[in-house]
Amino acid sequence: MIISIASGKGGTGKTTVAVNLALSLRNVQLLDCDVEEPNAHLFLKPEVHSKKVATIPVPQVDESLCDYCGKCREVCAYNAIAVFPGDENRKGSGVLIFPHLCHGCGGCTLLCPQHAIREVEKEIGVIEAGTCGDMQFVHGKLNIGEIMSPPLIRQVKQYICQSRTVIIDAPPGTSCPVIGSVKGSDFCILVTEPTPFGLHDLVLAVEVLEKMQIPFGVVINRSDIGDGGVDAFCRSKQIPILMRIPFDKEIAFLYSNGVPFVTEKKEYLQKFADMFAAIGAIVNGKSSG
Ligand code: SF4
Ligand code: SF4
Repeated sequence: MIISIASGKGGTGKTTVAVNLALSLRNVQLLDCDVEEPNAHLFLKPEVHSKKVATIPVPQVDESLCDYCGKCREVCAYNAIAVFPGDENRKGSGVLIFPHLCHGCGGCTLLCPQHAIREVEKEIGVIEAGTCGDMQFVHGKLNIGEIMSPPLIRQVKQYICQSRTVIIDAPPGTSCPVIGSVKGSDFCILVTEPTPFGLHDLVLAVEVLEKMQIPFGVVINRSDIGDGGVDAFCRSKQIPILMRIPFDKEIAFLYSNGVPFVTEKKEYLQKFADMFAAIGAIVNGKSSG
């Protein structure tokens, strides 16, 4: 089963839930797909066994073959190519590639009538894989200044081990990187907090998951502060509230020291295991969920 952990906004405790859930189960693989700011490793301190440079193919134009027809610019949906035909003597002509906008789709290379484009690999980040006890751990780290996180997320997800329970820590928000991370999951846990901001972003995240037709439930973090808006919304939409984690100074203290709280507050091991069982029941259609 693949369970992704997402949240409409950052700072709700998404990684806390991912890490503590992973530590409460057996035969788990945790993938940290929050590649712009991965931090699950700070809590799990995995032993890294392999490190792989992640690349995407970007076009390189051989202008001795190019006739400046502009086809590559037309096919590029991401405006990553500019073509300047120049005057009748080709004075001022040129093709400009903007590698940071390129998604590495290969369309321009495929459709160039003059076969003037070849692909070169551009480094976008690194993927590290290792273990934490019997847990498998994989994360991606996007290079500083790089904006193309979806290709790196896809490459991290290639490590998915189907024989394990897979927990994916998705990036915050509701944009492409989140969709790429959550896609293919059997279930998504949305972590939120009971505040107007938390509710606003939860509503957006729910809309995305409904469109993706992925079953989901909510974990309310710092559940005893704030208001009843999130509860009322979940009731009205019949969204299961899977767990409530109260505001707790000890949890906050452990978090700030990089310690997953299930290692000290053992009662939560069972709570997370129960939540996992409830998710299994929803996924297998044994619950109305
Ligand atoms: S499609 Fe090929 S030939 Fe046409 S402008 Fe682009 S690189 Fe040049
Ligand atoms: S590979 Fe795709 S995204 Fe990149 S420049 Fe070519 S058409 Fe555009």
